[in-house]
Amino acid sequence: MVSYKELGLVNTVEMFKKAMAGQYAIPAYNFNNMEQLQAIVLGCAESDSPFILQVSSGARKYANQTMLRYMAQGAVEMLKETGSNLKFALHLDHGDTFELCKSCIETGFSSVMIDGSSHSFEDNMKLTKKVVEYAHQYDVTVEGELGVLAGIEDDVVAETSTYTRPEEVEEFVKETNVDSLAISIGTSHGANKFKPEQCTRNEDGVLVPPPLRFDILEEIEKRIPGFSIVLHGSSSVVPEYVNMINNNGGNLKNAVGIPAEQLRKAAKSSVCKVNIDSDGRLAMTAFIRKVHTESPAEFDPRKYLGPAREELRKMIIDKNINVLGSANKGKEIFG
Ligand SMILES: [Zn+2]
Repeated sequence: MVSYKELGLVNTVEMFKKAMAGQYAIPAYNFNNMEQLQAIVLGCAESDSPFILQVSSGARKYANQTMLRYMAQGAVEMLKETGSNLKFALHLDHGDTFELCKSCIETGFSSVMIDGSSHSFEDNMKLTKKVVEYAHQYDVTVEGELGVLAGIEDDVVAETSTYTRPEEVEEFVKETNVDSLAISIGTSHGANKFKPEQCTRNEDGVLVPPPLRFDILEEIEKRIPGFSIVLHGSSSVVPEYVNMINNNGGNLKNAVGIPAEQLRKAAKSSVCKVNIDSDGRLAMTAFIRKVHTESPAEFDPRKYLGPAREELRKMIIDKNINVLGSANKGKEIFG
């Protein structure tokens, strides 16, 4: 058993408390390779933004769970070298079984998500409660989920979304003792968050997605005031990246995400954590494709992964400043 405390990590308690009081949200960035990890660490250090490093079970399989743990430890040291006082949480994204959550807790994760949203309400509560009881013995924080997001993210696939039912949240939170709750109010996983027929078109012919259901969020806030809410599937699917990919041999059709203004509005509410994965993937792919188009003879991975990493770092700084409002908040939490 390796405790996250030995690794120099923190759980999400303090971050969420400050984010709630300060009306901003903590970004949760997914990673599965070295370049993404470097970009997250450097981008958040430079903008002094508290952050959560997030790993899906798919990423754990891809990078190897032992390698991944040491990469997170490496990130702790690299962050210190920048002169930053930030500390981050290492979080399991979409854990689907008690065993997976337990395994992560035993290998140094400071926070886990147990996603029981594919089960019945009763079974979701039972599973979440079991994970919470185990995790809290080690001061590990737990995120649960009520409602189902549409879209595809690694192993998580759902055809259609089911909005969170506000009438279920009080019982769920009270029964499970969970630390935060992911809800479904219209965000969606992946780069194709909405079908074209769900969208309208603006005067330039650009797809405009249906607005988030802030009415549901408000209803939830009324029932569990001050409780930390999480939004998944919250990439904006930045059009510049989509165009760059398509102009360099890619073929992303009808890619559409959540407009930044809506995420900014959400970050000011009881939403304390916003998950961003697809935008990072798009940023990297856009720049890798650009290098391959402009320099077709290039075959040194550093020559295309380097620019991709640099763009991801810039994107993260932009998100922290302009979308989440988390920039310059690190010193309030970590001194
Ligand atoms: Zn998710």
